[in-house]
Order: sequence, then structure tokens, then C-alpha cells
Amino acid sequence: MPETPITDWLEVRPQGLFVRPGGFFIDPVTAVDRAVVTHGHADHARPGHAHVLATPETLAIMRHRFAGDPAGAQALAYGQRLRVGDATVWLAPAGHVLGSAQVVVEHAGGRAVVSGDYKRRADPTCVPFEPVTAELFVTEATFALPVFRHPPVAGEIARLLRSLSLFAERAHVIGVYALGKCQRLIAELRRAGYDRPIFLHGALEGLCRLYEAHGVVLGPLQPVTAVERRALAGQIVLAPPSALADRWSRRLPDPLTAAASGWMRVRQRARQRGVELPLVISDHADWDELLATLDAVAAPEVWVTHGREEALIFAAQARGIRARALSLVGREEAEDGG
Ligand SMILES: [Zn+2]
Ligand SMILES: [Zn+2]
Repeated sequence: MPETPITDWLEVRPQGLFVRPGGFFIDPVTAVDRAVVTHGHADHARPGHAHVLATPETLAIMRHRFAGDPAGAQALAYGQRLRVGDATVWLAPAGHVLGSAQVVVEHAGGRAVVSGDYKRRADPTCVPFEPVTAELFVTEATFALPVFRHPPVAGEIARLLRSLSLFAERAHVIGVYALGKCQRLIAELRRAGYDRPIFLHGALEGLCRLYEAHGVVLGPLQPVTAVERRALAGQIVLAPPSALADRWSRRLPDPLTAAASGWMRVRQRARQRGVELPLVISDHADWDELLATLDAVAAPEVWVTHGREEALIFAAQARGIRARALSLVGREEAEDGG
């Protein structure tokens, strides 16, 4: 049993979660003096902090996105323990994107785990999620409704490859987020034996190079601009979701529009966005995985951040867990898109 209840030292402030004995915020939404950052998505990693503690990969992603910022950065490898003020901090893999981490904080005999975003499925581009038992677990809830059960990734990749052989004259343009989904989709295609060049919108190139520099093998990649329009017939082209609807995709021959996201489970959303081939591939835990994670970490208290909190809180309470919603501002699905 902790000597001091964790709720006495882990505070919810307008900027985000604050660890009082360590004097730092976790994923603060505004620039602060000391921040621990779970991963590189824009709703978690912000520019302008004086000091940042994160995995080496997350720091590299932040420097890539924020033109060198953070200046005051300290890298912490998974499992490496660090004394910060009166607290001990370490990072455990979250399985969400390259470098993603859960923040483990220990103080006064108690342990809190702040998961950031996470998933439980295998992902060839990052280290798998590791459950850490704790007195308090802070979880995301992006897909916390029983309707969200992500299908096996291999089946979604097979659907894409089948479409490609059926519509061999159409460029298959797939909306993917630049950090994580893009590289995971490429790696899953390679795993399925697809060895042709994959064509990239310019906005995706930098992070693909960064992943490769960290040892993630992506195979032959080419900028869309490097080839003639008709050479793209029957090829896979990856682009940010925003590019699918605009003039950019008109340069592709008879484009067939696909998108890879957990949200593609909602058919109406796919239709609204003009997506012909919705691929349900998510970097977040689905309903069953959220519940399995609550069981694995065995925390008597759970705080639920961004997402559909109510259903998960209800399910946690039915398991005898004290659960409450943390309404943190500034967490949107906009950046990682599920
Ligand atoms: Zn994320
Ligand atoms: Zn998030």
C-alpha cells in the first residue's frame, strides 16, 4: 500500500497531468518548464517546453517536427529508471507508434502509469505494449465502445491487395497519418510480400526516412513527383487524409480512394469522406483490448482520458475498479486519426 494516496501527488491541472514530487507535467498542452512526453503525435508532443524527457525516438520525432526543438532534452530508454525530484520515472513501451511510451511514476511506495495512446496488436514498426501493474492507471479511450472491435490487420491488407489485382489500372491512393499509420501500413504490406515501390506524397517522406534511420525497414519508396502520371496506374500511393479530397489526387490516374484508420469501422464516416475502400487498421486498443489491459495492470483506480469515457468507466466500475473521467483539454483525434 502506498504511504500517501496517489491522488495527493498526481494532479490534474489545466495544462495536463502534473506530478508534484517531480515538478513535471505529462503531455502538457501548453509550453511548460518540465515535460515528460509519451509520443510524437501533435496532441501529446508540443513545442516550446524548456526541458523534455522522452524516449530517444520521440525526441527525434519532435526535433524533426519542431525544427530542432526541444533544446533541453533528455533521452530515457525503455526501462531505464531516473530520479526526478522526489519521484522515480521510467518509460514502458506503449506499442502505439515508434518510440511511444507509458510513463511510470513511483513515489511514496505508490505507482501510477500514464499510458498515453496504446495498442495491443503486433506492429512491425514499434516495440509491443508492456503491461505494468500499478495503483493508478491512466488510460486513453479512443475506441472505448463495444462496437469497436478491430479486425485482424492481415485481413485488411489482403483486401487491399485483392482490390489492387482486381482494379489493376487504378492508382490506389490511401489516406494515412504521417506518423505511425503510414509506416505501419508499408511494413504490413512488405510482410504480406508486396515488394513493388510504394509511392509517397511529399508530406510523408521525412518521417519514413526517420523510421528507417531507427532500423525500421520499409523497402522501396518513391516520391509521387518522381514518376509520370500513367506510371502510377495500379500502384499504391500514400497521402495524408487531407490530400485525398483536394486537387492533389487529381494528378493520379483513375484514383481509387482508400483510408486506413480505426474510424473506418464506421461506414458512414467512410462514405462521408468518399472512401471507396475503408481499411480498419488502428493504432489504438479496441474495446476488448482496453478491458484486457485493465485486467492486466490490475489497478484499483483508473482515470480515463480522451475518447468515449462513459462506457469504459461503466465497465471498469463493474469490475470493482474506481474509475473517473479526466477531461483533459486539447486531445483530439485530428492528428493520429485512429
Ligand atoms: Zn497518438
Ligand atoms: Zn492521443
